[in-house]
Amino acid sequence: MHPFHVYNTYTKNKEVFEPGEPGLVRMYNCGPTVYNRQHIGNFRSFLFADTLRRWLEYRGLRVRQVMNITDVGHLQGDADVEGEDKIEVQARREQLDPKAIADSYAEQFLKDMKDLGVREPELYPRATDHIPEMLAIIDDLVAKGHAYRAGDNVYFDVTTFERYGRLSGNRVDDLEAGARIEVRDEKRNPADFALWKSDEKHLMKWDSPYGEHGFPGWHIECSAMAIKHLGEKLDIHTGGEDNIFPHHECEIAQSECHTGEPFARYWLHAKFLQVDGGKMAKSLGNVYTLDDVRERGFDVRVLRYALIRGHYRQPLNFTWDIMTESRTALEKLDELADRLRRIQDGQGGAADAAAGAELATAARAKFEDGLNDDLNMPQALSSLFELRSAVLDGKLGRDSARTAADFLREADGVLGVLRSEEAATELQPAAQALLDAREQARKDKDWAGSDRLRDELLEHGIVIQDTPEGTIWRLK
Ligand code: AMP
Ligand code: ZN
Repeated sequence: MHPFHVYNTYTKNKEVFEPGEPGLVRMYNCGPTVYNRQHIGNFRSFLFADTLRRWLEYRGLRVRQVMNITDVGHLQGDADVEGEDKIEVQARREQLDPKAIADSYAEQFLKDMKDLGVREPELYPRATDHIPEMLAIIDDLVAKGHAYRAGDNVYFDVTTFERYGRLSGNRVDDLEAGARIEVRDEKRNPADFALWKSDEKHLMKWDSPYGEHGFPGWHIECSAMAIKHLGEKLDIHTGGEDNIFPHHECEIAQSECHTGEPFARYWLHAKFLQVDGGKMAKSLGNVYTLDDVRERGFDVRVLRYALIRGHYRQPLNFTWDIMTESRTALEKLDELADRLRRIQDGQGGAADAAAGAELATAARAKFEDGLNDDLNMPQALSSLFELRSAVLDGKLGRDSARTAADFLREADGVLGVLRSEEAATELQPAAQALLDAREQARKDKDWAGSDRLRDELLEHGIVIQDTPEGTIWRLK
């Protein structure tokens, strides 16, 4: 197979992906802050991570994937001095303790991920389980002169890390000039960010050399969890585009000053899911959850398809029309799978010729070439629709249908959207009886009866089609 090229936000280039250790990919994905139900925009980023992992696995690599759960320290402003801890704000709102808030939204998040068919990462570590690891890095950064204590707060001195700003394209000078937020006098430089903060009023707090009432900054959490579970050198680090600055910029600075090694070799970022051309965000109140999607009558796998079918580096504007389109597209792919099954069972299909096998092979090549080009999903998907047209045009026979079905199964290992084999082939006995009765009605030329039975089948979610080879059915 051709090499896999990825766009690296760090170098601003498409590069050939090679893991540091042959055969093994160490990948860290910035996960959710569990103060609220995750919205479908968040899931765009997580599904991007899942697709990437699945593609690496398709390519025969083993992936050690870690996605964190942030349950403390993420302030409302994303920058480190603005606003309150998001979880504590929600705890007050719901009159629960912060742990109960974090636990319940984390559980909901894990359920939503399962419902979306996300392959489970090796680990979902939680920030509050890694306080000693964070403090160890902070102590080391203070000892090396990259961080300093100001009262009971600890800041990272951005002027001690020459590459600060390389990922995001920000320059320290500009950041200082542009710093609007009430700049704390205690910082050496306005762009310095907090590693550890002290606040007696904070509900979640830990004893440390920096006082008794401290809690970590959001950025140090990811460095500590990534290093602990994946080692000092990662292959891939992902997040949504808003994570580039300050979050990932700060992660790089503190991790590299701590280990003396480059932190992650490839930085990949998914563009936002938008609504009406703007950001979908909890704070803007324009978010949808999986339940909203279900209430509108859509299967969650249709949402999965809608969120992965575009290119991850293109913004995606969410509309319900896109969901309808996605449902239609998925029905076509389900139909492709059904047709291939039937042809293998001897229903329909061409006398097998070399041309059929070539079509199946070409579809696989196009699919692979697409995904190898920085996960170009639109190209990859077009290979499936072209294959479907060829199948509907009767160009495949039994053997080539097997080749094509094998490819489709593997392709769906990456996409994760097709109806499961069991769902596709298992017919409720009642539905089978209706099908048999309709066959009989047709033989008896009882067209009215046959039409009535067709409607009844539709109520069971079964769509039938009469073809020269006989009646075929598919699930709606
Ligand atoms: P949060 O729970 O706010 O920490 O966000 C979790 C993840 O979702 C982060 O990687 C964000 O970059 C990502 N994210 C947030 N909003 C969106 C959006 N509208 N579209 C895509 N990703 C998003
Ligand atoms: Zn993170």
